[in-house]
Amino acid sequence: MSGLQSRSTAAFALGLLLSGPALAQASTEKLPDIGPPARVPEGAPPGMHHIDRLALRTHAYWLADDARNGRQTASPGQLATAKYVANYFKSLGLKGLGDRRGFYQYYPIERLEISKSTGLSFGKTKITDGFAVLHASKSDKLTASGAFSYCGNGAEMSGSLKGRIPVITLSGRTRGGVAGDLQALQRYAQIAKKLDKANAKAGIVCLLDDGGSLANALNYRGLLRDHGVMAYKRFDRPIVKVPLMVLSAEASKLLLAHMGITVDPESGEHADDGKKKAKGKLTIQIKAVRKAKASNVIAVLQGKNKKLEAVVISAHHDHVGTRIDGDRFNGADDNASGTSALLEIAEAFARCKERPARSIVFLSVSGEELGLWGSAYYADHPTWPKDRITANINIDMIGRAGRRDEKILMQITPSHEHQKYSSIVKNAVTTGAQFGIEFTSGDTYYRRSDHYNFAKLGIPVVFFCDGEHPDYHQVTDHADKLDYAAMEAITRLAYWTAWQTADAKGKPKELGRQSDW
Ligand SMILES: [Zn+2]
Repeated sequence: MSGLQSRSTAAFALGLLLSGPALAQASTEKLPDIGPPARVPEGAPPGMHHIDRLALRTHAYWLADDARNGRQTASPGQLATAKYVANYFKSLGLKGLGDRRGFYQYYPIERLEISKSTGLSFGKTKITDGFAVLHASKSDKLTASGAFSYCGNGAEMSGSLKGRIPVITLSGRTRGGVAGDLQALQRYAQIAKKLDKANAKAGIVCLLDDGGSLANALNYRGLLRDHGVMAYKRFDRPIVKVPLMVLSAEASKLLLAHMGITVDPESGEHADDGKKKAKGKLTIQIKAVRKAKASNVIAVLQGKNKKLEAVVISAHHDHVGTRIDGDRFNGADDNASGTSALLEIAEAFARCKERPARSIVFLSVSGEELGLWGSAYYADHPTWPKDRITANINIDMIGRAGRRDEKILMQITPSHEHQKYSSIVKNAVTTGAQFGIEFTSGDTYYRRSDHYNFAKLGIPVVFFCDGEHPDYHQVTDHADKLDYAAMEAITRLAYWTAWQTADAKGKPKELGRQSDW
């Protein structure tokens, strides 16, 4: 099979994508040569040649472009991404399997947002953006005018802060990843507790640096100008006793200069030029809860002789939006890589003249980063009968696989050490060897992506992921760092696993814990 054909497929896809600024950028930007598509292994199912690294890259660049603003659920960037996925499914001639057999499935969420009046002013400066609010209640409404009171890093607070506006400085450089984010939230909670004890109505936290968990964690629990906090079914309980306004490093510089305070970001040591009388006005107002909706995108390819049964292939397309300094969480690996794979797999099935026995459902969900919301809603409102879902294949972060010699190092769950280990995982590991893919247990992530909502229904699942890396949930998770040759191999393996499962006589068998794969 010649590359040309795949190039024509990519050209078709490119034609479709012309609307995407990323493409325009991609087409102007000289992208490095990533080599031609690899040879398809012996015995592979038909249609696999349609999956190629060039098209994977085109999709990933579009999905992870700054213009998507980090694809926060229910944001314009996520809605544009959902439209991109739906248009692609439509262009392949797939049928919609969303609401009223369209491509979209909407689910209700609620939003809590800050009012326009929320902000900080001092001297001639008005801070209206570049901050996040951690709310103490859904109806926070306060205006504090008066003298600023510098409280160091919030560890020591003496005397009453009644009628004053406390200011705390924190060096942003903290441990990254999920653990670092949790620690950061605990830090904010401790500071608010101390402020509450000191009779403060609210507080200001100045980040000396935007580059760590203290800034990242705000994306989940903070109300930023461009996105508030959202809820699916119920809001999380606020983490602070009194509301905090957390300023980006840039906004912090302005306030500290106004107060005559200089802080050494490394040591946290501060010098004070004695401008004790620095004053200002802090306004925090939370708007009433607003009902909104988010979207999943779903398409189906009818099977041959067992078409009432289906294999569901899923990948989330949402990510965590923008940071308080405006930088984007591009989410190239998480999960533009998995979404690109889902689109390429859909193309391979749609273009392939042969069909597997069972049908294939392509499920592109949102709300994953917020708590697996989209797949939870799908599991509660399946558009394919639950008892006729043969298996779920979930793809989340496949662009940063490890490499050792020629080997591609990936993780998979449920592994052979897991009670839910099944023949679909066993087959995937065996077939993976054909692509030089080696698997280790990814059981740490068994509950951390969308397959878990299918597993909870007793449906056999297999989850492909590359595990955490230094750019995980950082603004540095960029498309030019993805390994497209490895992505091509992993995507082809997921396709092969789907085909095998959809065409098998029987259903996947649960094997339980085993000593080996
Ligand atoms: Zn993810």
